[in-house]
Amino acid sequence: MHIESAEVIALEIPFTDGSSGTGLMPNRWTKVQIALLKLQTSDGLTGWGEGFAYAHLNTTVSALNELVLPLVIGQTIESPAAFNLQLQQKLHLHGRYGITQFAMSAVDIALWDLMAKQAGKSLAALLNSDHRRQLPCYASLVRYGNPDTVAHYTADAAARGYQTIKLHEISLDNIRAGREAAPLPVRLTTDVNCNWTPEQAQSLMPHMRDMALFWVEEPLFPPDNEKQLAQLQTEYGVSIASGENACTSVEFARLAEHIDYLQPSVIKVGGISEFLKVCDLAEAANKKIMPHSPYFGPGYQATLQLMAARPVCELFEHLFIDLENFLDPACPQCADGSVAMPGTDGLGFEPDPKMLQRYRIN
Ligand SMILES: [Mg+2]
Repeated sequence: MHIESAEVIALEIPFTDGSSGTGLMPNRWTKVQIALLKLQTSDGLTGWGEGFAYAHLNTTVSALNELVLPLVIGQTIESPAAFNLQLQQKLHLHGRYGITQFAMSAVDIALWDLMAKQAGKSLAALLNSDHRRQLPCYASLVRYGNPDTVAHYTADAAARGYQTIKLHEISLDNIRAGREAAPLPVRLTTDVNCNWTPEQAQSLMPHMRDMALFWVEEPLFPPDNEKQLAQLQTEYGVSIASGENACTSVEFARLAEHIDYLQPSVIKVGGISEFLKVCDLAEAANKKIMPHSPYFGPGYQATLQLMAARPVCELFEHLFIDLENFLDPACPQCADGSVAMPGTDGLGFEPDPKMLQRYRIN
C-alpha cells in the first residue's frame, strides 16, 4: 500500500452523563474529543485511525502532524506490524510511551483498516476466519460522587440488561450504593483511577471482597507497580484489573503474570499490532483481557474487531453516556448487554461527512 496523503481531523462531540462533572480532569468533561486520522492510498482506499485525546486533543493532533505523519506519508507499507516497530525505533527518543505512542496507535489502526479493506474483509475476518459475531459488553458508568445518583444510574444500567456494570467511584458509600442498586448476580466492579493511597486500599479492600466486586481497577498510584497490585489481589482475594495506561506489549509483559485482568487500550497501547501481542501474552499467562474502550471514534470499532477475532478478550467496555451524535450512523450499539459486529470491510467505521463537518474544530 502506498500512503499518498494523511489528514488529522480534530472533533468534539457534546454529551450528557448525569454527573456533576467531577471527572479526572480539572475542568468539567462535557465533550468527547476525538483525534481522527484519515489515510489515503494511491489506489483510492481510505483508512481510519484514532489516537487517545481525552482532554488534550491539540496535543495528540500535533504529535501526529509534527512527529509521526512525516514518517508515514509517501511510504509503501506491506506489514502494519513491521512498520509499527520501525516507527517505534525512529521515534523512541521522544519517549516510548504516552502521547507519542497514542499518535502511533492512530497510524497503526488506520493501516490495519486499509489492509482489511484491501483484502475485502472485516478486520476480524482477516485475523481469524472463525471470529465471533456477537460480543458481550458492560456498562462503564462515569463518576457521580453521591450515593443517590450512583444508585439511580446503576439501577438504570441493570434494567437495560447489562450483567456487568463498572463504577468509577472511589469512596465506600458510593460503591456500596452501586452494590445495593445492582445486587448479585449482576457483576459489579469499580475503577479507582489510581486514587487510593496504600493505607486507603488496606482499609477498603476488605469491603470490596465483602461486596463480591468482580474486579477493582487501578487502585493505586503508580499503576505500573505491578508487585503492589499483585499483593493486594492475593491478600484480599479480589481480582485486580489494570493496563489502560500501559503502552506496548513490553509493559504488558511485566504486568501479565501479576494480575487477573489485562486492559490494553487500542488507541493508547500502540494500535492493533501491539494489542495483538498483548493477546498472545495473556493467552500464554492464562489471563483474560478486558479491553479499555470508552471511545466513540475508530477505537470503538477497532476494539470490537479485536474482541471478535481473539476470544481471550472477554467484555466490551461501553461508556454509559448520552452522546449527541455518532460520527458513524451505523455504529453498533450495545443492547441487552451485547453488541453485534459491524457488517462492512475493514474496521467497520465509516463516518458521515455531515457529522465530520458539524463536529470538527480544526
Ligand atoms: Mg479505567
